[in-house]
Amino acid sequence: MSRAVFLDRDGVLIEDVHLLTRPDQVVVPPGVPGALRALAAAGLKLVLVSNQPVVARGLVSEQEVCAVHRHLEALLQSAGAPALDGIYFCPHHPNATLPAYRLACDCRKPRPGLFLRAATELQLDLGTSFAVGDRITDIIAGARAGCRTVLVQTGMHQEKPIEASEPLDTTIQPDHTCADLAAAAEWIVGEMKNQQ
Ligand SMILES: [Mg+2]
Ligand SMILES: [Zn+2]
Repeated sequence: MSRAVFLDRDGVLIEDVHLLTRPDQVVVPPGVPGALRALAAAGLKLVLVSNQPVVARGLVSEQEVCAVHRHLEALLQSAGAPALDGIYFCPHHPNATLPAYRLACDCRKPRPGLFLRAATELQLDLGTSFAVGDRITDIIAGARAGCRTVLVQTGMHQEKPIEASEPLDTTIQPDHTCADLAAAAEWIVGEMKNQQ
């Protein structure tokens, strides 16, 4: 069993540009490649977990989302970041434009389905893993999966919560809050050292 860090995409790994549909909209903030190097060097698998309701809205296909992710991986690699160990996204939305994607699925954060699928496929120990996100729904999903959570104050952290199919559990708070992914990586690596 491996430990992992689950990473939200928009507002954490890349700039949140709202309704990202094309590879040329992907911008990796300068601190991200180094943060990923530090997390991987600490022995964590790097797993992207992202809600992509743009698919449910009919703005892009799942294949086009995958093309965006291949471009992101190429950008990260050329910036010296380690490869991602897994990429998981939810294409659904409870009020989707496209009927095929209109469901209250288990994989749209704040539900933990993406984390659970990754844990099975990549043999991850969720209880010793971490989750980093810029929205409280990322934190709730990570906590429900059993991970420790870090809220970063980039991206959409000041926006109102996303539409969820149930009321948000307001008792769940992040284990740590910090400026960005670089600071989150520093905290996570420090916590892992403390546990040794
Ligand atoms: Mg986000
Ligand atoms: Zn879903």
